[in-house]
Amino acid sequence: MTVNGSAHGNGHVASSSRSPLQLEPSSTEAARVLPQVLELVQGFIASGEEPESYVAPWGSIPNFRKAISLSLPDTVPQNNDDALLEAVKLVFDNSVNPWTGRFLDKLYAAPTPVGIAADLVLSAVNANAHVMSASPVLSLAEERCVEGLCEVFGFTEKKADGLTMPGGSSANTLAVQTALANIFPRFRAQGLLGVMQQLIEEKRAPRPLLFTSSQCHYSLDKAAISAGLGLDSVIKVDCDATGRMDPNALDAALTAAKESGAGTPFLINATSGTTVLGSFDPLPELAAIARRHHCWLHIDASWGGPIVFSHIATYSDLMKGSSMADSITINPHKLLNVPLQCSFLLVRDADTLSANSLDAGYLFHSSDRRENAAMKTMGCGRRGDALKFWLYWVRYGKHGFGHHVDAGLHLASELVDYIRSKPDQIELGPLADPLFLQICFRPLQPANGVSDVSQNGNVVAKQLSGAEVKRRSAATQFVYQELKTRRMFAVDFAPLPNGIGDYIRLVVHPRTRMEDLKMLVDQVAEIGQLYWQQQQQA
Ligand SMILES: *Cc1c(COP(=O)(O)O)cnc(C)c1O
Repeated sequence: MTVNGSAHGNGHVASSSRSPLQLEPSSTEAARVLPQVLELVQGFIASGEEPESYVAPWGSIPNFRKAISLSLPDTVPQNNDDALLEAVKLVFDNSVNPWTGRFLDKLYAAPTPVGIAADLVLSAVNANAHVMSASPVLSLAEERCVEGLCEVFGFTEKKADGLTMPGGSSANTLAVQTALANIFPRFRAQGLLGVMQQLIEEKRAPRPLLFTSSQCHYSLDKAAISAGLGLDSVIKVDCDATGRMDPNALDAALTAAKESGAGTPFLINATSGTTVLGSFDPLPELAAIARRHHCWLHIDASWGGPIVFSHIATYSDLMKGSSMADSITINPHKLLNVPLQCSFLLVRDADTLSANSLDAGYLFHSSDRRENAAMKTMGCGRRGDALKFWLYWVRYGKHGFGHHVDAGLHLASELVDYIRSKPDQIELGPLADPLFLQICFRPLQPANGVSDVSQNGNVVAKQLSGAEVKRRSAATQFVYQELKTRRMFAVDFAPLPNGIGDYIRLVVHPRTRMEDLKMLVDQVAEIGQLYWQQQQQA
């Protein structure tokens, strides 16, 4: 017997060697460490809420890289709370602070404190949502949220289903795979080779094609790559000036593809809330076309989906027709401020998801498929992201989601009015119709002013010369850089359709303060004037 009593008599393992991950009861460590971390969390939120706080800690990434290094120690003192808290502090001190409300750069914003609580709860139960036996409540929360979302989108005719996915891109990718496998039954066993063979036998063009608008999110292209279709199988359909897919152009493209033998259409993607302009493709028209051409209709409502909760009919009607889709992606982690990540893929017919399932005898022991969420996806282990959305639903209610979205719409229209009140300093870009939450604008050289802007403030479709587009884009990028340096606002810039050049693009989040939005517009105007002055002197 070894003196140290190792059960296996293996002298390398000392009986006193407890895992350093548990030198004390976890409840003791939790009681000591968590309140201190929570205090830092509260400090981060409070500092963000101070009026003059910076939204970004660094004006430039290279400077950040030079200044900050993260250690990976070999040995550390036992239970070193100080090092841990220092590390957490370093995170807060060097993070973009969404709690400022001036992070208007991306389609997500600060969560609410309920989101932080939800993340804490998720980590505490640390349950894998692949099977219900491992995560009873999390799985039930997922089931209920899926039911709730299916209901609002009108997936009520058949037994609908869905699941959380780690992001809208993954949800879109799973939708493309699911569509392929359901439209072409050989796909599952034989892959694309089988699909091509089938199409050849049926004297149809042996290349499955996916149709989407030129304004769609790039995840559709990525989905085509990962499904083995390749980028050439994605046909981009033209949009109108407000960024909506043109249904006539879609119909013509589908017919042309078939007649020319270029390929066989199998999926139409409609975007509800495009990434740059915030436009909504016309769902009833696209649904009718999809039916006529025997295509799967997917709606990428990653960004705009929550409009379905709006109490303003003009807006909630933008999702009318969703019930005719085969699948829908929605990201509560964007407009609904649930913490990253929380996305859902919904399907109108639960059976379509069985194309993705395999029996794994060591994991799936229940014949009730509701208990085997991982069977619906290509993944296995899954975070219980639905819990966060469920806790939001419990906290704010369905009507609360609607009022939240409407508050954002109200701010956006007030901001557009404000921009229009400065026609000699700011050029307003094209807007979604009806206006959604993105607003594109750029500084205007004073002498150039007014004439570009029509009565209602929209850019006149007058053609700018290439040189003029370049000049205005350069001014936009100057403003963007200067805003970055000042660190009070985070906004993005983007090239807009039809070759009109770059514009500052901001996303109005429902919890943004109007004063901040006005201050930003004023700064864009001011920095713009500075730029044009410098140009004249140069
Ligand atoms: C954000 C977005 C996506 C991708 O969602 P992720 O969660 O970032 O993967 C897809 N489509 C649209 C329209 C989006 O706005």
